[in-house]
Amino acid sequence: MMSPSGPAVTRREALAAGAALAAGSLLGGCESPPDPIAAPPAPEGPARPSHYRFRLGDFEVTTISDAGAVIDGPWPIVGEDREPAEVERLMRENLLPEKKFRPGFTPMLVHTGRELILFDTGNGPAGFVPRPYGGWLAEQLGPAGFAPGQVDVVVLSHLHPDHVGGMMENGKPLFPRARYVTGQVEYDHWSSTDYSSASPEENVYKTSRLFQSNVAPVADRFSFVRPDGEVAPGIHAIAAYGHTPGHLAFHLESRGKRLLFWGDCAHHEVASLAHPEWHALFDMDKEAGARTRRRIYQMAAEERIPVVGYHTSFPSVGFVQKASSAYRWVSVTYQFDA
Ligand SMILES: [Zn+2]
Repeated sequence: MMSPSGPAVTRREALAAGAALAAGSLLGGCESPPDPIAAPPAPEGPARPSHYRFRLGDFEVTTISDAGAVIDGPWPIVGEDREPAEVERLMRENLLPEKKFRPGFTPMLVHTGRELILFDTGNGPAGFVPRPYGGWLAEQLGPAGFAPGQVDVVVLSHLHPDHVGGMMENGKPLFPRARYVTGQVEYDHWSSTDYSSASPEENVYKTSRLFQSNVAPVADRFSFVRPDGEVAPGIHAIAAYGHTPGHLAFHLESRGKRLLFWGDCAHHEVASLAHPEWHALFDMDKEAGARTRRRIYQMAAEERIPVVGYHTSFPSVGFVQKASSAYRWVSVTYQFDA
């Protein structure tokens, strides 16, 4: 049996030879033979965009990819209370791999004209997706046109490791000038609950450890919002409790243009939206998480608000459409350009 590369190389050589002949004849038989066509370069490997930018009224919004790991799932991360086969069937119907997926990890930078506001900080050196597969935000700011020292405000939807992991680099704040904003309820929970006896494998244990290493050292730079509270002009918090006790979404509006940053209201753009009632592995209160998903999806669908979904596929910008079962994610195309 031939090696898989055998016939391909042969075809490529034949094509190159054919192209050289064609070039020679088009040039009308010049004296020296045409330069041999260089061998194609070695494959570069897959490439994906690392940032995405659009205007929202006077705001400029940039989403930045913090991780690219392909992991097991979406079951049980989504559909923990269902049979794996049911989730796998939904993936198959949607032309997706049945047992592997690549969640987005997508911090959002908003330039309001007055301030540069970062929503969530990715995995950093010690988050959910370790380097080199995640924790990319620090490296991706430059190519996206920003420096960490330019960030005025860091908003945290909640305090899970994949959202606060990027706050610190080598034990120092990555954003030296920034003030921080998170939910009052969220902060109170993690600052007052002792998870040191939980198993080190548990998300609550890791979150509480990162609270100590990343949040506590800059506690004096935090301010806290409650639902409907203002983060900056045009930016307000929305209760999205369930995933964590104080998880918040945010509503942004500039010159009548609106956007929802919904943090972890979806862990998979197909499964979470098709079945908001399915339990999510990382939701601390499963029923509250499900109720929140329905309420937030309904709001986005009914009011046609574009969404940045932290764990939806990069660029993690899309719309929510009412569908026969529940909801459907419609990934952005040119809606912000027309
Ligand atoms: Zn998350």
